[in-house]
Amino acid sequence: MKILKFGGTSVGSPERIRHVARLCLDSGRNVVVLSAMSGTTNSLVEIADYLYKGNVPGAQETINSLRQKYRGVVADLFDSEDDRSQVTELVEHRFNYISQFTEGEFTAAEEKEILACGELISTALMLLYMRAIGVRAVMLPALDYMRTLEGGEPDMKYITSHLRRLIDSEPDADIWITQGYICRNCHGEVDNLRRGGSDYSASLIGAALNADEIQIWTDIDGMHTGDPRYVNNTRPVSRLHFEEAAELAYFGAKILHPTCVLPAKLHNIPVRLLNTMQPEAQGTLIANFPPDGTIKAVAAKDPVTAIKIKSGRMLLAYGFLHKVFETFDNYNTAIDMMATSEVGVTVTIDNTEHLADIIDEIKTFGTVTVDPDMVIICVVGDLDWKNGKDYAARAVDALRELPVRMISYGGSNYNISMLVRAEDKIKALNLLNEKLF
Ligand code: ADP
Ligand code: ASP
Ligand code: MG
Repeated sequence: MKILKFGGTSVGSPERIRHVARLCLDSGRNVVVLSAMSGTTNSLVEIADYLYKGNVPGAQETINSLRQKYRGVVADLFDSEDDRSQVTELVEHRFNYISQFTEGEFTAAEEKEILACGELISTALMLLYMRAIGVRAVMLPALDYMRTLEGGEPDMKYITSHLRRLIDSEPDADIWITQGYICRNCHGEVDNLRRGGSDYSASLIGAALNADEIQIWTDIDGMHTGDPRYVNNTRPVSRLHFEEAAELAYFGAKILHPTCVLPAKLHNIPVRLLNTMQPEAQGTLIANFPPDGTIKAVAAKDPVTAIKIKSGRMLLAYGFLHKVFETFDNYNTAIDMMATSEVGVTVTIDNTEHLADIIDEIKTFGTVTVDPDMVIICVVGDLDWKNGKDYAARAVDALRELPVRMISYGGSNYNISMLVRAEDKIKALNLLNEKLF
């Protein structure tokens, strides 16, 4: 069995939904994970935002325009009057449900309920469309099996047992449809796996079912050598090791959500990145490949802030780094990149929520300099220094015309990170793409 996940653009119009349905049916008896139609989750976020601000007319306007959009989708997707009225009732019910949150004080739990509606609608549309064309499609309601523990980690035992039970109870199904992104938290309340989290859903489902393959279908033919939104002449990478994919996802390659790699890697399930609009393209296969000594791709993470901390004493005293890390830890702030010298250390963070408090605390044992608006440029591949190759020299040389604030290599065999100013990001990415590939 395979898991096929389709992102927002892949199901972004009635035409695309029909196309995805055909793709899925050609692929066999698999589990299909869907995102909300493109733009929907953003609109739902906007509705919640209006409600938090007490702007009920603003919320109503967004609800109404989304409602109109879906009326158009239903009218286009379903031919028979019967199907149309059944689906219309379902979709209208969902929007009436959202509208009821315009009354009374708006809560975080209600926001989660609203955010869940995008995936609930897209999967209902797909299920009913497939049934309308005569397919025995069965819904696996994510809210009945996808669950997180206290702290937000997935409850794999619960997920596995409930998902398997749901599948076993429908032995005659041709295909299963389920929602990405949404889940319940440890209190049983509706929650989600964060923006872009449908990739994570697919990976968790793949792990729970011990799938043969997890396919992430999107709007591009696999992981490219650089981010095509900023870089010219990128090309798809045919094979990536799990570790390489994890580095790229973490350091900003949006095609893959950073959380998606781990469950697949732990269960050794290959992940294939494929293009919905060009299904015949080879895409990218992510698996446990043997080392091949090549540079695969470059990603960028921004904005990040660099914090240079010099020790209060002359030499890097024992316990200094411990104090530095402890300070960031006290404020639940993750460090992405670091470089050390005899007298100090520079680290980067992307979450600056507690920056002022962190700086205050550091000032009790060192001096601090902050460089905001920086970008981590991350060169990824099988870059083991024992391969005897000039990876670091090539990466640094490609950026010879730009000021580089910081360099990090050797934290793993898979990445060389360089910190440059955010304003140099596009130039840096293009230079690396030109010189490395
Ligand atoms: P989906 O809605 O299907 O989840 P996303 O928008 O999350 O799709 O991810 C696909 C997008 O990721 C592509 O359209 C592309 O612009 C972007 N992207 C960023 N970096 C890369 C990369 N290195 N290779 C391919 N796509 C990338
Ligand atoms: N619909 C959600 C989002 O837009 C989840 C996803 O697409 O992965 O973030
Ligand atoms: Mg995505």
